[in-house]
Amino acid sequence: MSRTDQFSRSVTVALSDIQLQTALDRGTTRGVNGRIAAMGETTDADALRHQARLAREHALNHLPDLLEQLERNVIANGGHVLWARDAAELNQVILDLCQQHGVQRVTKGKSMVTEESELNHALEARGIEVTESDLGEYIIQLAGETPSHIVFPMLHKTKEATAQLLHDKLGMPMTDRPEDMTRFVRGVMRRKYLEADMGISGVNFAIAETGTIATVENEGNNRLSTSAPRVHVAVMGVEKVIATWEDYAILVQLLARSATGQRLSVYNNLMSGPRRPDEPDGPEVFYLIIMDNGRSRILGSEYAESLACIRCGACLNACPVYQNIGGHAYGWVYPGPIGSIISPLLLGPTNAPKLPYASSLCGACQAACPVEISIPDMLLKLRRDLVQAGDATFAWRAGMRLWRQAMLSPALYRSGGWLAGLATQMLANADGKIESLPPPLKAWTDSRDFPAFAKQPFRERLKQRRRSKEEPGVGA
Ligand code: SF4
Repeated sequence: MSRTDQFSRSVTVALSDIQLQTALDRGTTRGVNGRIAAMGETTDADALRHQARLAREHALNHLPDLLEQLERNVIANGGHVLWARDAAELNQVILDLCQQHGVQRVTKGKSMVTEESELNHALEARGIEVTESDLGEYIIQLAGETPSHIVFPMLHKTKEATAQLLHDKLGMPMTDRPEDMTRFVRGVMRRKYLEADMGISGVNFAIAETGTIATVENEGNNRLSTSAPRVHVAVMGVEKVIATWEDYAILVQLLARSATGQRLSVYNNLMSGPRRPDEPDGPEVFYLIIMDNGRSRILGSEYAESLACIRCGACLNACPVYQNIGGHAYGWVYPGPIGSIISPLLLGPTNAPKLPYASSLCGACQAACPVEISIPDMLLKLRRDLVQAGDATFAWRAGMRLWRQAMLSPALYRSGGWLAGLATQMLANADGKIESLPPPLKAWTDSRDFPAFAKQPFRERLKQRRRSKEEPGVGA
């Protein structure tokens, strides 16, 4: 369920949650430092990023052809390809497959697309047991929560809270050692893999030229989920297709470096269809389901480059807004800077009107992005769209009109600056800070600093400085 309309309230709650703040601080700092170190090891990080960008651009520019090529090659490999127009259709297709193959138990690897469709609820409503196999996703499932990060779904949880949850739900002896918790969960999960009839996975990249799907992980859970059960269903958005193995070689290393600060993820699974007669293991049947759910609409718009995203999560870690509010406040599957673009585009801009404003436009997201997506630029365009759609208050419109007039008239700008300087100097305390602005501006000082304007405007100081250079002895 989207809760994007409750953004402001969710932010207030998040900012006062001490445990969340601790977890965010630890998680995002680790993410940022890991990425910087891993990218710093490459000989030319910018060139690599640019190559990745070109690979994604090529895929998006040839999307229909590449998807058809992918379909042909998956079928040639012995797999099946199914298409879903939207999230509801995706769930229905999977439910039909469950019925067709007599599926009672499912293990599932990390998949943002199935978060979009809330697949787990749909399966459980039909009495099918579904178990998330990624450690973070499993803990989130136990807690009855949703992921708060694209890569680290439980980034909002401290290890202390995780230990308590595993103790309460599964009877794990209390420990503060993550490795003990992992060992404990592994014991639970092994049985699930062996009992499962179907394994569902996401897709990091689908390589059109050979019909191969690639998943990237560090736990081996995806490999077990997709090879132990007799049916493997892989689910992807249309934008996940790439043209060649050369493109894969570039993107997969950038994904690991940007997401987890690794040179390469521990498991890079490449799957081309079901088990062959001479192979010892693997699924008997393989399905690839390709979902649109609004992506082709984005492809035809000025926001097409948002589809280049490889879901590394680096922009989330780098974003000062995400660092403070975490993922749940954004209210839907995709949080952070890229979520503030994708969510309004997929849900409709007026269904997520606050998200494009959840950014200081500092550009840290774009600097971190391995495929050079112009995130701040698109956030600004979304704000423009919202205003054009009438989603702006009277005060906002009046303020912007006033600002426009001031920017067009140097005299008005000068007098406005002089007036604002005078007013803020009068409101300032002895330290030059304003404790509280009068309404309606008070909302700003309720949560942020507002220093008084300088007594002497910059242009006056500049003029004075120039004069003093021209006339030695005058001014400072
Ligand atoms: S927008 Fe860029 S940095 Fe953010 S998740 Fe996507 S690829 Fe990673």
